[in-house]
Amino acid sequence: MTAPVGKITREDTIKMDGADPIAHLRERFELPEGDIYLDGNSLGALPMGVMERLEVAVKKEWGQGLIRSWNDADWYPAPQRAGAAIARILGADDDEVIVCDSISVNLFKLLVGALRMRMDRKIIVSEIGNFPTDVYINQEVADLMGCELRCVMPEEVEAAISAAGDNLAIVQLTHVHYKTGRIYDMQGITKKVQDLGGLVIWDLAHSAGCLPVQLNDCNADFAVGCGYKYLNGGPGAPAFVFVARRHFEAMDQPLRGWHGHAEPFAFTQEYKPHPTIDQMLTGTASQLATLALETALKVFEDVDMNLLRQKNMALGDLFIALVEQELGGMNFELASPKEAEHRGSQVSLIHEEGYAIMQAVIARGIIGDFRAPDILRFGFASPYVRYIDIWDSIAHLRDVMEMREWDQPKFKERRAVT
Ligand SMILES: *Cc1c(COP(=O)(O)O)cnc(C)c1O
Repeated sequence: MTAPVGKITREDTIKMDGADPIAHLRERFELPEGDIYLDGNSLGALPMGVMERLEVAVKKEWGQGLIRSWNDADWYPAPQRAGAAIARILGADDDEVIVCDSISVNLFKLLVGALRMRMDRKIIVSEIGNFPTDVYINQEVADLMGCELRCVMPEEVEAAISAAGDNLAIVQLTHVHYKTGRIYDMQGITKKVQDLGGLVIWDLAHSAGCLPVQLNDCNADFAVGCGYKYLNGGPGAPAFVFVARRHFEAMDQPLRGWHGHAEPFAFTQEYKPHPTIDQMLTGTASQLATLALETALKVFEDVDMNLLRQKNMALGDLFIALVEQELGGMNFELASPKEAEHRGSQVSLIHEEGYAIMQAVIARGIIGDFRAPDILRFGFASPYVRYIDIWDSIAHLRDVMEMREWDQPKFKERRAVT
């Protein structure tokens, strides 16, 4: 999709929607009438069919089937089925991904497990400004395992990897940055780390469902990612974890629970890890949440990830062009890379009154989010965001600024979740 030349008009964006080869995907979602939803990067929209699946799961399978449904309704292998559906959009094999727990918990399992594969090495490299949960877990695991965590600025990551040399154990990075949307070179960094004998753990929270990730082509070791953002699995949906098959045998994750056991229903006293990706499980899956995610993933079943990617790049380019065209002199600064290929599926703007401005646009039904201290974040989930939505959002943003609508006490009071 090429952006129109000259001044962009609302008519142009209507034409862009008309030419969009994946416009029909929007019909797969239940979206609130009148709102423009630009926060699929925080909580994905509700896919059609999820409600119905949950109703059957609760009323019939739980209510009537009771305990029998673990077998009769095929509940038990739901984490593997949902994992396989995610593997297909990440360039992994079906049996290298499983759905369970949260990113935080899965990261802990992978970090300790990976460090146990590199016991002679003591350095973990990560990024300053990484998502807080990643930083906390990295630090905790480093302390626990007697390692040193080196957090550096994004542009210094490669140098820090080289500097760690023979002592490099793990590099843990978020592929697409949660605030700025900046993308790391997965293939290049993975190779660099592996050439030094280290292992890489990628956090795909802002990649899964928006970019054509190629885990196996990049020879990735491990990854975690989110079920409730671009994968639309619902609030607090379980996360996923990827382990390259070549590491199945050496992996020794620390949260040993009965579902990770080779024979969970043998009820033995001795722990024996499952030889497959199932070893990453700990306890019983949150079944309703897993079934909701599994159903939500049907959205991606017949979708070319390249088309999704082209669309979110074009939506982001349009947004940036309209910020320049319509919001000049209003003190907005671009916090995301300007070039689409270096940017994930979001555009972030910096403004010192960012919190109040975001509350004021949300009150108009334009839903983005705010990340402290001053970032307004707009996510463009290709399956349901339209080009015209970008035009209308910018028009509302301009009105909010011109009328100083944000400058009211009700928009300045911080709520618990931003
Ligand atoms: C959203 C997000 C998480 C969330 O972690 P949970 O433990 O699943 O809540 C982790 N990392 C990144 C980069 C995120 O964007």
